[in-house]
Amino acid sequence: MIYADNAATTKMSQVAYNTMTNLMKEIWGNPSSLYTKGQESREVLEKAREEIAGVIGANAREILFTSGGSESDNQAILSAARIGARKGKKHIISDAFEHHAVLHTLNRLKEEGFEVTLLDVHENGLIKPKEVKDAIREDTCLVTIMYANNEIGTIQPIKEIGEICKDKHVIFHTDAVQAVGHIDIDVERDNIDLLSASGHKFNGPKGVGFLYARKGINLSNLIEGGAQEKGKRAGTENVPAIGAMAAALCKKKEKLEESSSYVSKMRDKLIEGLSKIPHSVLNGDATQRLPGNVNFCFEGIEGESLLLLLDDRGILASSGSACTSGSLDPSHVLLAIGRVHDVAHGSLRLTIDEEITEDDIDYIVKNVTEVVEYLRGFSPVWTDLVSGKREFVL
Ligand SMILES: *Cc1c(COP(=O)(O)O)cnc(C)c1O
Repeated sequence: MIYADNAATTKMSQVAYNTMTNLMKEIWGNPSSLYTKGQESREVLEKAREEIAGVIGANAREILFTSGGSESDNQAILSAARIGARKGKKHIISDAFEHHAVLHTLNRLKEEGFEVTLLDVHENGLIKPKEVKDAIREDTCLVTIMYANNEIGTIQPIKEIGEICKDKHVIFHTDAVQAVGHIDIDVERDNIDLLSASGHKFNGPKGVGFLYARKGINLSNLIEGGAQEKGKRAGTENVPAIGAMAAALCKKKEKLEESSSYVSKMRDKLIEGLSKIPHSVLNGDATQRLPGNVNFCFEGIEGESLLLLLDDRGILASSGSACTSGSLDPSHVLLAIGRVHDVAHGSLRLTIDEEITEDDIDYIVKNVTEVVEYLRGFSPVWTDLVSGKREFVL
């Protein structure tokens, strides 16, 4: 089996697994309890906080543990909106290909009277910093733009966008769920005020994540209750998962350079191979993209059928995001970069990691090529394209 769906989730690393199981067995006290058994758990939390902060250039006090990327996105955006509303600022800037955890939160705010400007992500899947600058108004309270896209892997010019927001005194949030642990991030260098991350996207456990909030930003609670996490997120902390998430992230950081140069090389080989399939296109910029992300559209086929046949051949991939597969709507990300419905339906996302070999890449190229050809063989759309009844888009 070749697992090429790391953007959906990753397998836990050995160190994360060992840390988690050990903590579950040994460190079971309540971190809020004052006796030693509780304080052991408290220490695990504070060490994890320090380690995570270290990886992204933050201070430990600025890290809040959450249940994952979705919760972090919700809390970051709602907090910035509340801060804005108190000053009469109710305008937010984002873009059309954010994760639904961001887009749906913005929809909720629209219902509450906020105005949302969604920037164009252009055909290459990149935002122009100048367009962020031009969109900022007197009443803008938040800019929220993802670090790297989960479907097409494009990496935004975050540092430049952060600088603009800093100059204009607008809070800048980034959904960095796909970026943390995969590329180098520094919240100071990048001028980030709020950052969301999720453990299971960097070989940590599922159901745990964190939110970085720059000192001075007053977070609003999503969950009320006890005084955990400085009163900003009630509920007894998931100590084993938090410890394992920190261990996973430190491991990723340690081998970041080596693994990203290897994975990028494999990515480029895969892109080169798949580009040879006629009437296909790479989605997203070829260079400003995550080391492990490859995303193509093949004209005249259905992404879902492609996935199922690849599964039969031991290749685990994705078409659109996990949240949209199962529905008939094409990916909002592909539509945002200007792919027409028919073309967007024929998409394939392969997200690889450092376990991939050159042989695996050859195997993927060979099989995707065969399966695309096979599916086109009995696709009515393809027949129309070839006979000239319909015009090729790609
Ligand atoms: C996976 C993902 C999320 C959601 O994270 P969960 O931990 O699964 O809630 C949010 N944003 C992006 C970009 C993602 O890839």
